[in-house]
Amino acid sequence: MPRPIQALIHTAALAHNLAVARQRVPDSRVWAVVKANAYGHGLERAFQGLRRADGFALLDLEEAQRLRALDWRGPILLLEGCFEPRDLEQCSRLSLWHVVHTAEQIDWLAAHKTHVPHRVFLKMNSGMNRLGFPEAALRSAWARLNALPQVDEISLMTHFSDADGPRGVAHQVQVFARATADLPGERSLANSAAVLRHTAAAGVAADWVRAGIMLYGSAPDAPAGSIESWGLKPTMTLRSRLIGIQHLQPGDTVGYGSTYTAAQAVRIGIVACGYADGYPRHAPSGTPVLVDGVRCALVGRVSMDMITVDLTPVPQAGLGSEVTLWGCGPVGGEHGSVLPIDEVAHAAGTIGYELMCALAQRVPVEVAD
Ligand SMILES: *Cc1c(COP(=O)(O)O)cnc(C)c1O
Repeated sequence: MPRPIQALIHTAALAHNLAVARQRVPDSRVWAVVKANAYGHGLERAFQGLRRADGFALLDLEEAQRLRALDWRGPILLLEGCFEPRDLEQCSRLSLWHVVHTAEQIDWLAAHKTHVPHRVFLKMNSGMNRLGFPEAALRSAWARLNALPQVDEISLMTHFSDADGPRGVAHQVQVFARATADLPGERSLANSAAVLRHTAAAGVAADWVRAGIMLYGSAPDAPAGSIESWGLKPTMTLRSRLIGIQHLQPGDTVGYGSTYTAAQAVRIGIVACGYADGYPRHAPSGTPVLVDGVRCALVGRVSMDMITVDLTPVPQAGLGSEVTLWGCGPVGGEHGSVLPIDEVAHAAGTIGYELMCALAQRVPVEVAD
């Protein structure tokens, strides 16, 4: 029997979360952002749930190729654009749209030989200060692109630094609107947090939104927001089983470094899941874990292949009991027994994004619908 750990990808939940994005921006088209192997879900698996998106946004040519191999004929956008001139040949061959954020990318386009002109997204830096042309350079970049026979349509985009937090997006929306006021072309501004929190404001929904994390059942504004509050469903379950039980007496300790000491007699469940599976090593004692769908607490240090759980809330649990590290608990479990990935991430001092992207290669993955 293989080690009992397993990840499930819920394609129906992906489709549900995409529908939530659409409801919030009914007049916009939705890019499903599938970079990082669809946030760790597996591009091919995620595609099964996200095929009703208007387009797919990603970073790697290799991922774009995989989408075309799935027979996706619609738009694909390279969010960081080309990394070297040769990449433009693949853009031509695979009909990829690409972001242009540096003058060098325009030089490469000017030297590129193509029969079919390219659709590009000209990226403005409206305050994030990562990629894009500043306001002062935007117009001349647009004019250069507009003069190139290699370029067909020019769209305009920018990215928000604070859509999930108290600073919000108004300052960036204003800069973007001012800098692009008389330029034609479609616009794209919003990431998931903006889709959920800011699309009531003028100019945020625009022509295209770029939804990532919300599609994958994580609230971009956790822990202030939650998937429950946004009507989103978990799309990844990480589950395993108890492979051992220990009976501790007061004063006994558990695991490396003896960081947990039993105050009274306690049953401890040993779970076949550790940091080599992608479980966060920094998850402290108290991090929630479901055993047979019942909320329990991790105790002691996370090791490479195991974690240890206080079984006090679930006295009937024993060897083989199902353990949910995040996602959906067993059918019929408590509260529909969902453990949002955001709760585990928060306990471990990180974000849902990082946990799902870090699911380890050694964990077998199944599509569960
Ligand atoms: C990753 C990314 C997104 C999606 O962000 P989420 O917070 O996951 O919705 C949108 N736009 C750009 C440019 C990105 O790189």
